Amino acid sequence: MHVPLVDLKAQYQNIQHEIEHSISSVISDTAFIGGKYVNQFERSFAELYGVKHCIPVANGTDSLYILMRMLGIGAGDEVITVANSWISSAETIGQTGARPVFVDVDPVYFSSMDEVSFEKAITPKTKAVIAVHLHGQMLQIDKIKVICDERNILLIEDCAQSHFASLGGKRAGTFGIAGSFSFYPGKNLGAYGDAGCIITNDDALAEKCRMYANHGSLKKHDHRMEGINSRMDGLQAAILSAKLPHVLQWTADRIRVAGTYDALLGSELHITIPKVRPGTVHTFHLYIIQCEKRDQLKDYLAEKNIETALHYPTILPLLPAYNHLGYTAANFPNAYKYQQACLSIPIYPEITNEQIQYVASAINAFYATGKGA
Ligand SMILES: *Cc1c(COP(=O)(O)O)cnc(C)c1O
Repeated sequence: MHVPLVDLKAQYQNIQHEIEHSISSVISDTAFIGGKYVNQFERSFAELYGVKHCIPVANGTDSLYILMRMLGIGAGDEVITVANSWISSAETIGQTGARPVFVDVDPVYFSSMDEVSFEKAITPKTKAVIAVHLHGQMLQIDKIKVICDERNILLIEDCAQSHFASLGGKRAGTFGIAGSFSFYPGKNLGAYGDAGCIITNDDALAEKCRMYANHGSLKKHDHRMEGINSRMDGLQAAILSAKLPHVLQWTADRIRVAGTYDALLGSELHITIPKVRPGTVHTFHLYIIQCEKRDQLKDYLAEKNIETALHYPTILPLLPAYNHLGYTAANFPNAYKYQQACLSIPIYPEITNEQIQYVASAINAFYATGKGA
């Protein structure tokens, strides 16, 4: 049996009609950039999140960059971010001229920074934090928000992996000054190309971001400042709108799949299953186990036609791109330990029970047959 890590084709086949209708509408209306499909998506997404503004942009990396630029972050500033993440949540800091300051992940949930390591990293130069809700798991956002409010630090949430995750019923992206989303195809809500957005309740920030993403103008030829070209295109917006009515069900399906894995893998002594932070909804963009003999297990699963991945094989501060900052693995003991042991196993809404059983039995068999000893 083949089990892919994600199966975008299965999703497409279930909603093929809606997708094809939305694509042909955009083309017959020639609404390629901006226009009614983009307007419609931004209204629906803002409504779903209960926020005043949704600013559609070209991708979830630009959304972070645009936010930081429009919040006045630049040379001389420090921005705190987490050691274990996709590079966007660090590289965009450098792009503004500011310096990224990496902190370790928390030792229980392993998903993102905790408030203790965050607070330790604050200096008089700290202007903002990129709070990354990784894997679909909320970080300790309530505690981090209290510290940000006390110390006058801008709280930017990177929700690229955590659409619809929540704490106490309040969704990721609505705690800080703004939330940043990616709609990269494999994300929990994915377009058929690059797309992203910013959500915020701050009117002035929303207007600036919207302007900056569109060459510094809100109206044609009325450039109030220099900007960039980071617009969502109509095809992506229409595809996202077609998917929106399904996304809460897909999210519930991911959570159900995670529960099945928990039950099948929870008693295996050689692995640790992901822990969900109490009071939160984890939306399982990824299901990551920590395991003994990780690389051997990965190879064994590949032989059984089961795709797995590492998120991430190298933590950000140890990448060549950040050599100049002089960090070592000893600076990030939890993230480094996670890097050595993490393995992402297949999860997507359409995965069948047979596939889940097959993956779990293969993992259990690896350890039971002594291969993992
Ligand atoms: C995917 C991702 C991004 C970037 O999104 P793109 O749309 O690919 O630019 C940013 N941060 C995190 C944590 C991500 O996983």
